[in-house]
Amino acid sequence: MSNPILATWATPFQIAPFDSIADDDFAPALDQALAEHRAEIDAIAANPEPPTFANTIEALEGAGQGLDKVLSVFFTVAGADSNPAREALQRAFSPKLAAHFSAISANKTLFARLAALWDQRDDLGLTDERARVLMLTHRGFVRSGAALEGAEEARMKEITARLASLGTAFAQNLLADERDWSMDLAEDELQGLPEFVIDAARAAGAEKGRPGPIVTLSRSLIVPFLQFSSRRDLRQVAYQAWGARGANGGETDNRDIAAEILALRGEQAGLLGYDSFADFKLETEMARDPGRVRDLLMAVWGPARARAEADAEVLTKMMREDGVNGELEPWDWRYYAQKRRLAEHDLDEAALKPYLQLDRMIEAAFACATRLFGLNFKPLDIALYHPDCRAWDVTRNGKHLAVFIGDYFSRASKRSGAWCSAMRSQAKVPHAQTPVVINVCNFAKGDPALLSWDDARTLFHEFGHALHQMLSDVTYESISGTSVARDFVELPSQLYEHWLEVPEVLTKFATHADTGQAMPRDMLDKVLAAANFDMGFQTVEYVASALVDLAFHQGKAPADPMAKQAEVLAKLGMPHAIGMRHATPHFAHIFAGDGYSSAYYSYMWSEVMDADAFAAFEEAAGPFDPERAAALEKFILSTGGSKDPAELYIAFRGRLPGVEALLKGRGLAAG
Ligand SMILES: [Zn+2]
Repeated sequence: MSNPILATWATPFQIAPFDSIADDDFAPALDQALAEHRAEIDAIAANPEPPTFANTIEALEGAGQGLDKVLSVFFTVAGADSNPAREALQRAFSPKLAAHFSAISANKTLFARLAALWDQRDDLGLTDERARVLMLTHRGFVRSGAALEGAEEARMKEITARLASLGTAFAQNLLADERDWSMDLAEDELQGLPEFVIDAARAAGAEKGRPGPIVTLSRSLIVPFLQFSSRRDLRQVAYQAWGARGANGGETDNRDIAAEILALRGEQAGLLGYDSFADFKLETEMARDPGRVRDLLMAVWGPARARAEADAEVLTKMMREDGVNGELEPWDWRYYAQKRRLAEHDLDEAALKPYLQLDRMIEAAFACATRLFGLNFKPLDIALYHPDCRAWDVTRNGKHLAVFIGDYFSRASKRSGAWCSAMRSQAKVPHAQTPVVINVCNFAKGDPALLSWDDARTLFHEFGHALHQMLSDVTYESISGTSVARDFVELPSQLYEHWLEVPEVLTKFATHADTGQAMPRDMLDKVLAAANFDMGFQTVEYVASALVDLAFHQGKAPADPMAKQAEVLAKLGMPHAIGMRHATPHFAHIFAGDGYSSAYYSYMWSEVMDADAFAAFEEAAGPFDPERAAALEKFILSTGGSKDPAELYIAFRGRLPGVEALLKGRGLAAG
């Protein structure tokens, strides 16, 4: 019998036949698919015909269809519904996949064909889209070192391997430091802590075999502890332990690792012909130039710092009223900010929740997509990988466009967080395929299931990514849907969050689970106002980290990153009572891998765009302005990576975004 993963899927819309796939099918399917892909690549490389777009680039696009099937099914279940067998498979697969893809980028005969096409690019008569796919493919190979020869090629391999092991060590040291520290709390040390924090502290204690509640360095426990504990001495101890992660001396110290990583990245960029790692990294981003990133961050820094300084005065005054003298310290900020939040906003989360029913919020996300883009959603009754999964047939004017799958509830077999992935991406070549898109979240189950405000935002966020996949209308899979620059990919998702905040959407869909009543206007106002609370603090801690990240990767790598960090913060005038969101020895975003190295700014870059893009609707006829919606689909949601992102944004908005809408959105605008 043939492997069900690689067989033709005779299911509605060719969705993976999960109910006939067993865990034992994955390993043989992967081996077979890798072998087939290798054979396809070898055939493309060995083609005796001179290279053409069709026999090289288009052939590469069409290769690996079996591999796509195996990986899409496997990574879906490994992330959303794992078990020990799937975890073991994942450990076995990752070195195999890494070796497979690095062998492709090191294939010299294949690269010679790409390089020849690249040299002739102006004479090939390519469409804009094809020219872009050629550029991206060629650039991807060059960036992974395909054009290097001899000693340089060997050194590049060494650096890549060393960086991978340093990244792993960095992450493991951080985990070890987080695991090794905890603080027991006696009964009289629970002052100020609400029941839910004490419960979490007890659960953490039980997990560690302690007799009572403890504080650990897990963000989900230490942050509420710092917000609520009225014991200033304990807050100080906990805060300092949190800040010392990765910098405790001994075997788990990350400071030397950070220095070595930065030096190797600098060398890597030099081998590939760039002035600095930041120049290398930003080449593929919308921002392009480290100078533009710095300008953006500095434009936000000034107003954020001013707001934080003003807030510090208010908090210091509250601390004085508590009879505490001395300066407001980093372990005081969250505590007094929380008190201030209660005094100024008194938003009762418990009273809010019944208004945010999961099913109604899904309806709300769909209804906005119906009004904006004419999409319709019809439930599909099909077997998926878990009974909690739901699926919809997404159509427009009666035409099938995509399948949308929602897997919303938390369970032990699911990794934490929320994400959107395409089990199949839209493409027209080698044959037309419609997307199968999945949103995975970790909401608590209930009858009915109720969401927090953050949960509801997450639901809209992930659905924004799903729209980017479902509305994709390009020729090639490699540039389809969310295959765009990192600092552009969060635009559709963060933008979609704005529709949750539209009062008429909340009034219609945020109805009470018991009474069916719409959310009262004063609650709605409080929810919207509370979203901006303490933004000075949040912006300062984030922007400081982003500026340190950028400084690390621009110019010559610093021999002593801690000294460089201190220098950057001193120059900025970092407020005394605010720490970086991620200080160097535990800045996993930029050191545990290189996904966000010199790219930590990208969250804010996207926010600048989403605020500015939503303002385009507000400046027109409002959130559902049909012309703006059509432009959003035409220039951003349907175009994937087929054009330069800055060009796309300008096509939508008529200009690049400024920071004004972001400052206004965060409540940081002057006046
Ligand atoms: Zn996202």
